[in-house]
Amino acid sequence: MQNIQPVIDSIYDIMQSRLGEGKVADYIPELAKIDPKQFGMAVTTVEGETFVAGNAQTQFSIQSISKVFMLTLALGKTGESVWKRVGREPSGSAFNSIVQLERESGIPRNPFVNAGAIVVTDMVLAGHQPREAIGELLRFIRYLADDETISIDNKVAQSEQATGYRNFALANFMRSFGNLHHPVEHTLGVYFHQCAISMNCVQLARAGLFLANRGRNPITGHSVVSDRRARRINALMLTCGHYDGSGDFAYHVGLPGKSGVGGGILVVAPGKASVAVWSPGLNEVGNSALGSEALEMLANEMGWSVFGA
Ligand code: GLN
Repeated sequence: MQNIQPVIDSIYDIMQSRLGEGKVADYIPELAKIDPKQFGMAVTTVEGETFVAGNAQTQFSIQSISKVFMLTLALGKTGESVWKRVGREPSGSAFNSIVQLERESGIPRNPFVNAGAIVVTDMVLAGHQPREAIGELLRFIRYLADDETISIDNKVAQSEQATGYRNFALANFMRSFGNLHHPVEHTLGVYFHQCAISMNCVQLARAGLFLANRGRNPITGHSVVSDRRARRINALMLTCGHYDGSGDFAYHVGLPGKSGVGGGILVVAPGKASVAVWSPGLNEVGNSALGSEALEMLANEMGWSVFGA
């Protein structure tokens, strides 16, 4: 395998002159305050080595990347019956779109658009208080990353709670179709807190490593999910992980990934590595602008792709 450190160092150098490109998410007031001129990257290989560049130790709001971990929990809890309440097709619409929901009777297209993620959160909430459900997710992420310091930024959660009109609309709409089983405030309370989990690139790359290694974390030895389930989660990340930018991301990067409006992206190179990149400026579909380009450069340089040998 090519040497990773010089590759990410040169990507970092290129990004230095472009810091600040894109637009920070401003519909969540607390995220609007973040300095856009930041860029960090961490690559953890399945051999357990980690390589970093830039602001790889700076905490950021993982936002929608949390949907991957919540889906993993929901699949563990309810198995394939998850798919009775949420689909597995790319939406071709924005992450917070409501248009398909009415025609499709309150069943969201996939677990990574907001509506789908809210339903998945509702599944994990079954039999729990909201506080317990968010605690379960936080413990799971700490276990995956092998890092007890990971926590929730309550200011971000409250900021979204106070302004999340779209998510309230989506949740109420689904509740009217019977596809939300708990009070909207409970499910969204958990959802806003999961999105407000703070991590840095190193922690995120480690937390995603099980998906690059057939469901098993090679550093801790923990078996997280079966090989087949890891493949399936990766398939969903590839087809739906970047909303209406998913096709473009597959074309340019060629690896399963999940983005968040905090500017983070988690990417899985199966059998090779887990990668986290963070830069807060977003492109027009809400994915990190510099992050997406950095991942394209990395995948090209390393020859990593799920579409070729
Ligand atoms: N918390 C954000 C929201 O619900 C997550 C969206 C995202 O990261 N794409 O709007």
